Amino acid sequence: MKSDSPKTFHVKSFGCQMNVYDGERMAEMLGAQGYVPAAEGGDADLVVLNTCHIREKAAEKVYSDIGRLKREDGSRPTIAVAGCVAQAEGAEIARRAPSVDVVVGPQAYHRLPDLIARAEKGEKAIDLDMPVDSKFGALPKRAGGQRPTAFLTVQEGCDKFCTYCVVPYTRGAEISRPFADLIAEARALVAGGVREITLLGQNVNAWDGEDDKGRAIGLDGLIRALASEDGLERIRYTTSHPNDMTDGLIAAHGEVEKLMPFLHLPVQAGSDRILAAMNRSHTVDSYLRIIERVRAVRPDIAISGDFIVGFPGESDEDFDATLAIVRATNYAMAYSFKYSRRPGTPAATMDEQVDEAVMNDRLQRLQALLNEQQQAFNSATVGRTTRLLLERTGKREGQLIGKSPWLQSVHVTAPGLAIGDMIDVRITSAGPNSLGAEPLMAEIG
Ligand code: SAM
Ligand code: SF4
Repeated sequence: MKSDSPKTFHVKSFGCQMNVYDGERMAEMLGAQGYVPAAEGGDADLVVLNTCHIREKAAEKVYSDIGRLKREDGSRPTIAVAGCVAQAEGAEIARRAPSVDVVVGPQAYHRLPDLIARAEKGEKAIDLDMPVDSKFGALPKRAGGQRPTAFLTVQEGCDKFCTYCVVPYTRGAEISRPFADLIAEARALVAGGVREITLLGQNVNAWDGEDDKGRAIGLDGLIRALASEDGLERIRYTTSHPNDMTDGLIAAHGEVEKLMPFLHLPVQAGSDRILAAMNRSHTVDSYLRIIERVRAVRPDIAISGDFIVGFPGESDEDFDATLAIVRATNYAMAYSFKYSRRPGTPAATMDEQVDEAVMNDRLQRLQALLNEQQQAFNSATVGRTTRLLLERTGKREGQLIGKSPWLQSVHVTAPGLAIGDMIDVRITSAGPNSLGAEPLMAEIG
């Protein structure tokens, strides 16, 4: 490399969509410092591993990833570990993996350039601060990207303290970003070509703030304000907590056309006894009533969820109750996980940890049912006409992949169309993970 060529970087994000968002903001910040993205799969001068601590496997992966960064000639890039593993393990990371130069938590990554500069002087630069004044103000303004869809973090942190979960410890207390900042960021994204925004938060529906007239509003108020922005065609939000599904947010699903008919509402388990032990503070019945009310205002809504099998003390009967809530809800898609014991969480020291073999069996049975429901949901859309936002190219010549309103990936071949266009299609086929469609008319994007 020539000495005057700009330094290159790679940001690898793992885990949740909030990490993807953080990774994009880090990349923008490094860009503003004169770094350029390294070629896909190529070597970089700086590698940021933006990590996930939610389950043990995800957390352990960091160390093997660090090991792989060593080059054939024995040299290595500058290595920064960011994200929730950084927050949870702190200086321990640099002890276990001495090649790590920077350790930075999810609330301090706006200081990354500074930390890198310190590391370049030979220091181990560690910042696990959780500043009350938010990092967002310190990040460069957003410019929109090459994609028609974008994430926008509106809320961070969690005060719920589910007994299995590390998020309240790694991401800190719940904060809502100010309304004006969010409208400004959304406008910048739309000006840069974004047509769909997904509002993000660990508990996105706990967002609250004041609108431009000083009125107290919740997430539904923010969604309504964004819906009046010209050029923004679609709005989504994730992840929601059942306790924060307000009447206003439920009503918005029936009233705001730009709010897509998709709700990710994790329940975790179908037994009230286990939900209480998890400190979920909702019951099976209160969850099912929310689903019923959302479906009453938006009958075609796709419901998605998260499940944990094998929480300490989960009996066969408790697990059967999880299968029962899945049947009662009828999911369009869902994520399911084996319980992972996380150090420092209350559940980690609970009696009656469930056997790995039992967890494997339960996960398999749960996933079989969820896959069946996902296939049925997809098959039911065959023959239907709908609108796609085209997001990327497919493997075949002239093929593009777009998202349906229900967040399904849909393949369509239509010459003359481009990423970012919106087209009307008829769904012609359905597999478990994607659909096929034919265009109904010429490009109208
Ligand atoms: N705040 C969201 C909620 O309450 O549903 C989700 C946040 S968490 C990043 C995403 C999912 O990871 C959770 O819904 C849960 O299913 C799963 N999860 C969290 N901790 C876990 C653990 N210790 N073991 C297994 N799965 C876990
Ligand atoms: Fe974790 Fe529960 Fe908070 Fe979700 S609500 S982030 S599962 S503690």
